[in-house]
Amino acid sequence: MSGVDVAVVGSVNLDLTVPVGRVPRPGETVLGADARRGPGGKGANQAVACARLGLRTAMIGCVGEDADGGMLAERLRAEGVDVRHLVPVPAPTGLAMIILEEGDGESTIVVSPGANGRLDAGRVRAAEGTITGARAVLAQLEIPIPAVAEAVRLATGTVVLNPAPARPLPRELLSRVDVLVPNRHELAVLCQAPTPESPDEVADLARSLLPGGPRAVVVTLGADGAMVVTADGVARVPAVPVRAVDATAAGDSFCAGLVAGLLAGEPLAEAAARGCRAAAVTVSRPGAIDALPTAADLAAPPA
Ligand code: ADP
Repeated sequence: MSGVDVAVVGSVNLDLTVPVGRVPRPGETVLGADARRGPGGKGANQAVACARLGLRTAMIGCVGEDADGGMLAERLRAEGVDVRHLVPVPAPTGLAMIILEEGDGESTIVVSPGANGRLDAGRVRAAEGTITGARAVLAQLEIPIPAVAEAVRLATGTVVLNPAPARPLPRELLSRVDVLVPNRHELAVLCQAPTPESPDEVADLARSLLPGGPRAVVVTLGADGAMVVTADGVARVPAVPVRAVDATAAGDSFCAGLVAGLLAGEPLAEAAARGCRAAAVTVSRPGAIDALPTAADLAAPPA
């Protein structure tokens, strides 16, 4: 049996989104608009994003043995994602509570990992054939670190790690990553430094991770696009200008576009540009999975 293009190792959540005029302060209550329930989680978002871009995609993760878990697995399957290694476990399906600020499209999010927290190294090893056969492995940090470590240890293809939500990572793990894709805040946490402001600060911090770490760091910079940092130098990749409606899943869409580019044989900066095009479509549409582009959408990005 031929392998998949990409094995996504990560979280699957039910997203509960409430649009608000402004985010409440601690202890404050604000009234929001109608709530939306839908699939989410960085793992699921990135898996669907990859599948929509035409990649043969497998999802490795855990959902609860509950109605939400069944609904999410079915939705991923309907998107063309191989869910043989999306395992139901006796814990609630992961939940993300998303406060979506109308206007600038920024989100404030609380994640309850639930079943995602049960993805351990053993469950990842159960998918060993899929991981070793994949041309790329794409992981994030909404699952336990030992699961991520096992996935990157088993990987024989290109390893892309989106270190979100951020936490410091062992060097051993980072050394097995080909392309690390943090945003500025995640980069700061990884380096245990203040958030870098200027492009030079971003580049310096990203460069500091390279010795004994990932082969490349691609820092996403929101409306300023992305920065590709390798031992060979620094390249800026501009964002595609769009009217931002909802930034949910922008980073996930970026990662999928980047992986699609790398698997198409593009140099890293070109693959990052493909990531920016994918993310721009996502930012211009409401929702998470619903906002992810197809390969056809990328051929004609929004003006
Ligand atoms: P995250 O959502 O993970 O915090 P960013 O905010 O850096 O990540 O966004 C990821 C990518 O989404 C950026 O690199 C960029 O390509 C795209 N993006 C984000 N915001 C905008 C925007 N306002 N206009 C165009 N592209 C955007």
